[in-house]
Amino acid sequence: MPEAKSERGERASARAGAGAQGSAPRTADTDIAHAEGWATAERLGIHRLAIPTPFAVGRVNVLLIDDEPLTLVDTGPNSGTSLNALERGLAALGRRIEDIELVLVTHQHIDHTGLVRIVAERSGAEVAALDATAPFIERYREEAEAEDAFAHAMMLRHGIPSDVATALQSVSRSFRGWGASGPVHRVLRDGDIVELTQRRLRVLHRPGHSLSDTVFLDEQRGVAILGDHLLAHISSNPLLARPREGERERPRVLLRYLESLSRTRELDFALGLPGHGETIADHRALIDERFALHRRRGEKIRRLIAQQPRTAYEIAQELWGNVAVTQAYLTLSEVLGHLDLLLAEGRAREIEADGVVRFEAAET
Ligand SMILES: [Zn+2]
Repeated sequence: MPEAKSERGERASARAGAGAQGSAPRTADTDIAHAEGWATAERLGIHRLAIPTPFAVGRVNVLLIDDEPLTLVDTGPNSGTSLNALERGLAALGRRIEDIELVLVTHQHIDHTGLVRIVAERSGAEVAALDATAPFIERYREEAEAEDAFAHAMMLRHGIPSDVATALQSVSRSFRGWGASGPVHRVLRDGDIVELTQRRLRVLHRPGHSLSDTVFLDEQRGVAILGDHLLAHISSNPLLARPREGERERPRVLLRYLESLSRTRELDFALGLPGHGETIADHRALIDERFALHRRRGEKIRRLIAQQPRTAYEIAQELWGNVAVTQAYLTLSEVLGHLDLLLAEGRAREIEADGVVRFEAAET
């Protein structure tokens, strides 16, 4: 599944979610708090460059950490427009791409990684990424192909009409140029420390939204760089992921995401810097909202399959109407994430006929 589609989907699902849940109204107070959040980051030497993307999620927050080595967190997607914006943003801070010495990557999605190669080639910067992220950067084309094939098979298996599945596949292909492969010079592991002269960043693997989500935590200053693991304005979707090498079952992404959120909830930090949108002041309250949303959604899905057996696609249509067609893969990811949980709890069963799976309620 190319990340292009997934990022476009994040927005759709947020919209869908907002219909069901209602999103927090934005008030003057929250605007002030967010402005203060980025101002605080600046004082700590972390500058936000909001780089445009072609995806519905909007701009991506690329961060410049004014330290030694001079560090860029994520790069933006692979496009001339994004590169220009990155150059202008750096110039406003008195820097050039050639000055970058280290690139850290928060996760595998192309709105975050697309310019890695160009930045690395022009600057000679070291690129550091989690072991789970590295293959998606180093072998982008192959990974994107494999994700697409997996997505197509999953869509058909879960009741998405083949014309819709084929149309989505070509949309996905058309976005592939916003990604590119690039080098990874240093492979990070969960728990590692990235040492800069003035700060230490703890590397924390938080799979769920993607399998490679990484949080960089500055314990001393109470700042967490979150990527798309936790966003203030929309719920990050756990996207379906294909089984990794040597594994037969696909990962239960929602389960992993909820576990990751629990672990982040335990961390102490006062300022969260996400990959899109505004800063996060109270991550525990936000995570509790996300838990509540997923509980409600899970119960709703259980009620739908208690009425009659349904495919995941039919459930998505019940929940989100036409968004389930235009954002079929994304909403499918969301529904299957919940069905994984219900299956694990013994509250749902799979019935397969002619290669299509339906789900029915089971008593525990
Ligand atoms: Zn993402």
